[in-house]
Amino acid sequence: MKPRSLVWFRSDLRTQDNTALAQACARAGGRSGSGVVAVFLISPGEWRAHDHAAVKVDLMLRSLADLSRSLRALNIPLRIQTAPTPGEIPEILLELARSTGCEQLHFNKEYELNERRRDASVIDAFQSAGLKAFSYTDQALAEPGDVRTGEGRFFTVFTPFKRAFFRLWDERGGIGVHAAPPAQAELPIKSSEVPLQVDGWKSSVSPDRWPAGETAARKRLQIFAHQAIDEYKDRRDFPGVDGTSQLSPYLTVGCISPRQCVAAAIEANLAKNPGQKGSPLEFGSPGAVTWISEVLWREFYIHVMTGFPRVCMHRAFQPATEALRWDEAPDRLEAWQQGRTGVPIVDAGMRQLLRDGWMHNRVRMIVAMYLSKDLWLDWRRGERWFMQHLVDGFLASNNGGWQWSASTGTDAAPYFRIFNTRSQSEKFDATGAYIREFVPELRSLSDQAIHDPESLPPLARSRLDYPRPLVDRVKARERAIAAFKDLKQS
Ligand SMILES: Cc1cc2nc3c(=O)[nH]c(=O)nc-3n(C[C@H](O)[C@H](O)[C@H](O)COP(=O)(O)OP(=O)(O)OC[C@H]3O[C@@H](n4cnc5c(N)ncnc54)[C@H](O)[C@@H]3O)c2cc1C
Repeated sequence: MKPRSLVWFRSDLRTQDNTALAQACARAGGRSGSGVVAVFLISPGEWRAHDHAAVKVDLMLRSLADLSRSLRALNIPLRIQTAPTPGEIPEILLELARSTGCEQLHFNKEYELNERRRDASVIDAFQSAGLKAFSYTDQALAEPGDVRTGEGRFFTVFTPFKRAFFRLWDERGGIGVHAAPPAQAELPIKSSEVPLQVDGWKSSVSPDRWPAGETAARKRLQIFAHQAIDEYKDRRDFPGVDGTSQLSPYLTVGCISPRQCVAAAIEANLAKNPGQKGSPLEFGSPGAVTWISEVLWREFYIHVMTGFPRVCMHRAFQPATEALRWDEAPDRLEAWQQGRTGVPIVDAGMRQLLRDGWMHNRVRMIVAMYLSKDLWLDWRRGERWFMQHLVDGFLASNNGGWQWSASTGTDAAPYFRIFNTRSQSEKFDATGAYIREFVPELRSLSDQAIHDPESLPPLARSRLDYPRPLVDRVKARERAIAAFKDLKQS
């Protein structure tokens, strides 16, 4: 008799290309075996500690409902239980395994420090109870630790990481994508109802903004790969243009896998360049190649987070930068959070975050650098606000992006290269379309003045219902550079 298995879904809410599900189903033996039971844990203590945004929890729950329907078609019951605190998780899973007759647990790895500790205690509990637990590489394209420098260390710079990743990919002959498993024989186990909401996480973002589930995610990927990927390189930096995939929320909750993303990009690349020599990860359509490279930034940051777990503990990647003395200025922080800094491109970005739970990558960099360098506020405050509001909040990428912007991280922006918000705005939102969408107070300004309302004649400026800039840009820049210079010399 084949064993019955429990599959623990977490940030992998899909049936296609789900390694743990595919492995558990293969071991359980399909129709003739004794089957698979799925479980998802509502984990308020963990979600609160990790600042999960309401919009992200909403996408998770709606995607869970979609997963439940897909699993039902495969005759896999889905049990949903609440684990008020992470410490209760091992016992809850063990109890569920016992009550559903499961001898094995399967799950895909997560790499945040607390998650790794939690998973280690679950594996211990299962082994102590004489049951088996299996974990799989799935959230990352390669297991963190498999891509190393010549000296055997984790990479801290992206481009050499990417080259080493390409070599590994070639050695492994690429990475396959799992199909959804076949339907199993019905089990006498009832599925749970998927809750519509969890107390404490009420999203104000319209659910239509982020259609949920793996079918919606795959559709978005297909449309992007067929219709937009070729122009990605030229359009990706302009927030007023719909030029990026907007797949980050789906990667975060796991409605789509990074393998599916790379496979679709390779397919699009080969379709356009059939005779192309060299790896389709690196050569061919500049759009597809650039997009794959962006997906690898996510991979890079997962590997960094695993190799340098201090970044999960609110610590700077570059320990020396812990000595920087940031300002305590709650009024400045609040103005930034609410999109009232008096810098139009920054305010547009922060208001996009509040409206959609998402922000364009170029603007994320601008607002992050503005908070840390111009406002001289601790990057951790911005990192936290992002996690509390992003639908795609993902510790590895969020921390990586913040530490890059604040010049405290791996591969960081050099401290003396501080974005000029005005020239960024003029370059990447030349017509002001993005600012006009999110800062209606400035809609009537010319394409030039919209980037800097302070350039208006005094009377025209005084008629605007729009705040004055919080800080003098030139002085702020000098101050930030001096603080970093002091650090280097001390
Ligand atoms: C300060 C800051 C905070 C960020 N926080 C997050 C976060 O919490 N979650 C998150 O997924 N991304 C984060 N990013 C990275 C990036 O901004 C988003 O992944 C991207 O904007 C998502 O849009 P998209 O799906 O259209 O991306 P696309 O341009 O279509 O890229 C495809 C995928 O590649 C990955 N990717 C692209 N750029 C990056 C990058 N710079 N770093 C890491 N992965 C990348 C994402 O998974 C993305 O979905 C952050 C960046 C900065 C500068």
